[in-house]
Amino acid sequence: MMEKRKVLVRAEGIKKTFPVNRGFLSGKQKSVHALDDVTLEIFAGETLGLVGESGCGKSTLGRTLLRLIEPTEGKVEFSGKDITSLSPKELRALRQKMQIIFQDPYASLNPRMTIYEALEAPLLNYHCPAVERDNRVREIAKKVGLNEAWLHRYPHEFSGGQRQRIVIARALILKPEFVVCDEAVSALDVSVRSQVLNLMSDLQKDLSLTYLFISHDLSVIKHISDRIMVMYLGRIVEIASKHDLLEKPLHPYTQALISAIPKPIVGAKRESDLLKGDVPSPIDPPSGCPFHPRCKACMPCCKKEVPKMRNVGNDHFVACHLIQYS
Ligand code: SF4
Repeated sequence: MMEKRKVLVRAEGIKKTFPVNRGFLSGKQKSVHALDDVTLEIFAGETLGLVGESGCGKSTLGRTLLRLIEPTEGKVEFSGKDITSLSPKELRALRQKMQIIFQDPYASLNPRMTIYEALEAPLLNYHCPAVERDNRVREIAKKVGLNEAWLHRYPHEFSGGQRQRIVIARALILKPEFVVCDEAVSALDVSVRSQVLNLMSDLQKDLSLTYLFISHDLSVIKHISDRIMVMYLGRIVEIASKHDLLEKPLHPYTQALISAIPKPIVGAKRESDLLKGDVPSPIDPPSGCPFHPRCKACMPCCKKEVPKMRNVGNDHFVACHLIQYS
C-alpha cells in the first residue's frame, strides 16, 4: 500500500481582491482580482514550484499562505490548524515555523547591521538566551557556507550570491518548517544561481524543510521542484509531478511556457507555440476561462464557463475544457 504523504500546508477556496481607488467621478469602486478560488496542498518535505508570468498572483499567494496578507475568502491550514482565524498572539508563535526569502538580497538586509546582528535579530525577537543565540548564529552561518570571520562585516562587503546566503541563513535561523522562496534566485547572476539552488536543496534535506518556490522562470523551477503548479491570472491551471508536467503538459498555457524555455542545442528550432499578447487586466478579468483571449484551442464554451480542476490520473490536475470534453 502506498504511504500517505503528510500535508503541511493546505489552502481552500482562497480569493484575494484589492480595492482600486477610481477617484471621485469615476463611479463604481473596482477591485484587482489577485487570487481566484485557489485550492492546493503542499506536502511535508517537498518543493512545490509555482510558475507563471509576472503579475499573475504568485507572490500574493505566497504571502497569503503565510498570512502576511489576509485572504478575502477561503482558509489556510498549517499542520492541520486553520491559521486564518488565529489571534495575533497565536500567529506570532506560529511565525517561527513559516518564513519567506525575498528576491532582492540588496534590499533585504539593513546596511547598518553587521551580518551577526542581522542573523541574531530574529532570535532576539523571540527572547532566545544569549548563549543559544551565539551558537545558532555560528551554526547557521556554517551551514550556508559563510566564513565565521565574516560575521562582523557589513552587507556592502559581500557579493550578490553571498548576500543571498545571508538572507537564507536569516530565514532559517528560527528553524522553520515551511519556507516561501519568492523569486529567491532571480536577482543573481546565472553563474551563482545554480550554486544557491544547490545550497537550498542541501539545506532542505539537512533541515527537513518544505518549500514553496516561486519563479517566473520555468528553467529555475524545473531545477529544484518535486511538483510544479502553474498559475494564470490568479488561478491555478495545472499541477503535476515535475516529470509529468514537463513531459506531458496538458494545459495550453503550460505548453506555451515550456516551448518558451531556450533550447541548449545549437541550431535547434523553437516550436512556434509562443504566447502572443499580454496577460489581461486583473481588474477586469475575461469571462469563462481567463486564458481564452490568448488560447489557440479556445472553444465557444471557454468564453462562458470557468473550467474546473480535474485529476486526469497520477495526481495530475488540470483546469481546461479540452480535458473536460475530450
Ligand atoms: Fe484554452 Fe478553453 Fe482550455 Fe481555456 S479552457 S485553456 S480557452 S481550451
